[in-house]
Amino acid sequence: MTSPPEYAPPADAAPPPSCELCRAAGRARARAHMAGSPEGVAEATEVIRSHPHGAGDQR
Ligand SMILES: [Zn+2]
Repeated sequence: MTSPPEYAPPADAAPPPSCELCRAAGRARARAHMAGSPEGVAEATEVIRSHPHGAGDQR
């Protein structure tokens, strides 16, 4: 088995380019990734996922 790269982006939520808040969360998530903070990554992912368009339903 191979261990996954540390910098692998979470395949959870992709911040839509049209939403400033999600983009900010995406940047925070990337920073948390580089800082090695899984908590920060999970938190930012949660922010994006809790947005309506996170489900791909609305625009
Ligand atoms: Zn959003």
